[in-house]
Amino acid sequence: MTTTKEELYAVLLELQRTYQAKLAQIEKNKALDISGTGYTNHQADDATMVYDQTVSVSTSRAAKTRLRQIEEALARFEEGTYGTCERCGKEIDIARLEAIPYTAFCLRCAEARDYRAGR
Ligand SMILES: [Zn+2]
Repeated sequence: MTTTKEELYAVLLELQRTYQAKLAQIEKNKALDISGTGYTNHQADDATMVYDQTVSVSTSRAAKTRLRQIEEALARFEEGTYGTCERCGKEIDIARLEAIPYTAFCLRCAEARDYRAGR
């Protein structure tokens, strides 16, 4: 059975909800961490807390980036350009969209981009 673009739209909406919930949870944890700071003089606890905050900042950044990609993909649905590579304008392979529904690039362009970014 091949996944249709309509099904991918539903997948994207679900992903959007998941990441919005994830970000809300991260924000909540952050608020708890901040309110908890200063309530302990135990150094190990403080170190753990700083570490947790560092982790939540990078997790939050990654989740925000992913949510933006998902929202951009949803916007492309509205424009009717979803599934078309933003770089070369060719159709993105449906198997690739199934794996990464929020991608804006075909495999070829994504690889070319990653290659450049890695230099
Ligand atoms: Zn392309």
